[in-house]
Amino acid sequence: MTDAGGRRLVLLGSTGSIGTQTLEVLTRYPGLARVHGLAAGGSRPALVAEQVLAHRPEQLVISDPDRAEDVERAVTAACAAEGIAAPAFSDGAAEVERLAGSLGPGDAVLNAITGSVGLKPTLAALASGARLALANKESLVVGGALVTGAAAPGQILPVDSEHTAIAQALAGVRPDQVDHLVVTASGGPFRGRTRAELVDVTPEQALAHPTWAMGPVITTNSATLVNKALEVIEACFLFDLPEDRVRVVVHPQSIVHSMATLVDGSTIAQASPPDMRHAIGWALAHPEKLPGLARPLDFTTAQSWTFEPVDEVTFGAIRLARAAHRAGEGAMAVLNAANEEAVDAFLAGRLSFLGITELLAAVLEDPCRPRATLAGGVPALLEAEAWARTAAHAIIGSREG
Ligand code: MG
Repeated sequence: MTDAGGRRLVLLGSTGSIGTQTLEVLTRYPGLARVHGLAAGGSRPALVAEQVLAHRPEQLVISDPDRAEDVERAVTAACAAEGIAAPAFSDGAAEVERLAGSLGPGDAVLNAITGSVGLKPTLAALASGARLALANKESLVVGGALVTGAAAPGQILPVDSEHTAIAQALAGVRPDQVDHLVVTASGGPFRGRTRAELVDVTPEQALAHPTWAMGPVITTNSATLVNKALEVIEACFLFDLPEDRVRVVVHPQSIVHSMATLVDGSTIAQASPPDMRHAIGWALAHPEKLPGLARPLDFTTAQSWTFEPVDEVTFGAIRLARAAHRAGEGAMAVLNAANEEAVDAFLAGRLSFLGITELLAAVLEDPCRPRATLAGGVPALLEAEAWARTAAHAIIGSREG
């Protein structure tokens, strides 16, 4: 894989944790793809300018129109200083969606947007026929069958260490040979704590993740185990299994990234030191393997890998996600949107740590929750989300008062 062979890549969410690591992988393996377009939120103009100089995309989209001018100024100045042409520039969510759908078969889109705003770009990428390296798990959590139904077999390659692991474990395995999946969880920073010990958790404590360096939303979701809850749903859709065949086990070392247990009693695990560049490189190169992509495990020193059951009473999010998956009809869109609002409120000091999961339960159990059918498509899901955000705000406001 030394020649990009004309393969183009659109990277959505280029300045986030996955986005910057994706560009690192491309710098090391220039033969993987040529960067055709970048999309970023716009909060880091200097980093965008640096990325443009290093990767020379033809297109640049800033999703937040209020930040677009600052970014355009930084990029234009940087390109002028280097004497190179600036990329075509545009802004807004609709432009992100257009960029996501602008390539075709043989090309790739890596969607590393955070949150359910990643859904429409995911659908646009799938419609274009490009490979979709999917780090935006909310696309599957919110879109569910709408997304899997729009994908050709093998078109979605998950960029989420657990699902990348399962996809590798299932290589050469037929669906009818799978008994269940085992998703591993680091347990987050509060593993082993009781409910009472979580009452006074601060955002600073929640943001100190033991094994993975990630953005603030996903790090908070790791502390509440909402991230694991969303990953159970993600696995259900990616591998077409009901929720009771996707189990969770706590594995604090984050070495075994997930497993598949087959009908003959064999469990196949994928193991490597925690490094998201492994998942990114796997998804972009598949079925090729990139030599030296990540540091391998070293068995010349003693080590132990431990596994323990997950405490679903203290960390109720997984139970809620299972119930939402069984309920269907937009319940997962509601769960995710309510969580996005709850995390914002928690990080702003307006909601307690335990309040996040309590809020999710209350919103899901609200008898007024709208039901989104598959036939209702994206608009019905967005309506369910909007309802959930309003309901979440009402609960946050009432708790503050
Ligand atoms: Mg993950």
